[in-house]
Amino acid sequence: MLTGLMQDRPLLISSLIEHAVSCHPQGEIVSRTSEGPIHRCTYGDIHRRAKQLAKALTALGIQPGERVGTLAWNGYRHLELYYGVSGMGAVLHTINPRLFPEQIAYIVNHAADRFLFVDLSFVPLVEKLVDTLPTVHGVVVMTDRAHMPDSAIPGLLCYEDLLGAHDSDYQWPQFDERTASSLCYTSGTTGNPKGVLYSHRSSVLHSWAACAVDGLAVGAGETALLVVPMFHVNAWGMPYAGAMCGAKLVLPGPALDGQSVYQLMRDERVTLALGVPTVWLMLLQYVDTAGVLPREELCLRRVVIGGSSAPRAMSERFANGFGAFVVHAWGMTEMSPLGTVCNLLPKHDGLPLQQRLAVHEKQGRAVYGVDMKIVDDDGVSLPRDGKAAGHLLVRGPWITSGYYRGEGGEILDADGFFDTGDVATIDADAYMQITDRSKDVVKSGGEWISSIAIENAAIGHPAVAEAAVIGTPHAKWQERPLLIVVRKAGHELSRESMLQFLGGRVANWWLPDDVVFVEELPHTATGKLHKLKLREMFSQYRLPTSA
Ligand code: ADP
Repeated sequence: MLTGLMQDRPLLISSLIEHAVSCHPQGEIVSRTSEGPIHRCTYGDIHRRAKQLAKALTALGIQPGERVGTLAWNGYRHLELYYGVSGMGAVLHTINPRLFPEQIAYIVNHAADRFLFVDLSFVPLVEKLVDTLPTVHGVVVMTDRAHMPDSAIPGLLCYEDLLGAHDSDYQWPQFDERTASSLCYTSGTTGNPKGVLYSHRSSVLHSWAACAVDGLAVGAGETALLVVPMFHVNAWGMPYAGAMCGAKLVLPGPALDGQSVYQLMRDERVTLALGVPTVWLMLLQYVDTAGVLPREELCLRRVVIGGSSAPRAMSERFANGFGAFVVHAWGMTEMSPLGTVCNLLPKHDGLPLQQRLAVHEKQGRAVYGVDMKIVDDDGVSLPRDGKAAGHLLVRGPWITSGYYRGEGGEILDADGFFDTGDVATIDADAYMQITDRSKDVVKSGGEWISSIAIENAAIGHPAVAEAAVIGTPHAKWQERPLLIVVRKAGHELSRESMLQFLGGRVANWWLPDDVVFVEELPHTATGKLHKLKLREMFSQYRLPTSA
């Protein structure tokens, strides 16, 4: 083999913010702060302060490779930590504050975090846990001196004081691009959370995929609202991709209710917004009740929806009500998270809305860098015909090779593929569609029924706020689907009219055997339907159709 003669510059996270400073120094970062007011700064400011932070961390004794935890909303200080901590060679561990306190303690201890950086709102949480966190040497509140809380936490530090003690005369160190950069734990709905350890290289490569036109197509002309939290798979990589292309970033802080999100979209002239379906449900409910006019008041062009399936009714609402195009995307913590993005192909040009919406229901086509296949229970590859559903396997340079500290053992097969735990079809145009998580499929008479397909159809009923399907035991069929529905406030809906609505929208033998109505559905810490809890809640339930 002949070695190529190109420069071997490492792909480091610090190079992203350096690029933003040299090419987009005035690119804006707008944050709604925990303290209340809107804060504005530029990539230039973030870079300068990230360097001050790196010096402060060094002074605190943080060594390369050590973990620094955050419990924080989306905001500029969190962004500074993204660059300061990883840039100096330490590992940023973003913690999901919505996890149970015992889980938070478990992951802080498992990660052996040396310092915790916390937003004001999480100080009481840390106060309760701090005695159980022996590796934590100090807690830093991400605020200024004036807002420092009274707290029992020993030696509590103030973020602005730390930064204020250092100038920004600092050179980002150069090191191997495979060095760990950040750590994120899966939500652990079953068993303990497991750590996914990203590298500089994986994060930079992933950013390219996010910026690519057939990826999320983020560019300098975009104003991107990151409703997806920075503690959920690095906000889908947007803090890095934003710097790579100089997009204006809008960080909503703790206020994720429909009204606050709508106001930020309007005031900051947001063109691209990213989040899970539950936050968009809140936004749409606000629009329904507040009498606002999104088409006239907003300049939203695209909404990236991932984390759970984007129901067709939601895409239709965004298209008709906002004039915005839903970009359905799929991925997971183990994949940094981007796997597929649902962009249209030239053959879809000019299709009527209803036909385009049928494409948007799919999770999309793999971005370059993600190798994908579906297999049956014996590991045999299934055809890409849009019908055969199988276990979805992936491999690629931003997909995990193993969990932190060896949890879960060997997780790749002999060809290096990782089993996503999802069940999917892939069609002839390479569009992948998730039909279920493998543990959630309803197994009826040896066939699989897609709980997601029924849920998405049910959501299309104007009286349905949210819907979930679980498999329940059946004497003859092994399992049959039970539909659990939350009605919209002030709406009537009977079991019969729900079933009638579904007839014709899903295959006859997929029709739920029963419908029950509840006040609310349980969700996981990442805003997904908590199917495990639902199955527990309905463990005593018996289907009327099962003798
Ligand atoms: P958790 O920590 O809840 O496991 P992840 O974000 O890593 O969080 O979850 C990844 C899983 O979420 C995927 O394996 C898949 O089941 C589901 N998921 C993500 N995006 C989509 C989507 N667009 N449609 C359907 N399911 C999705």
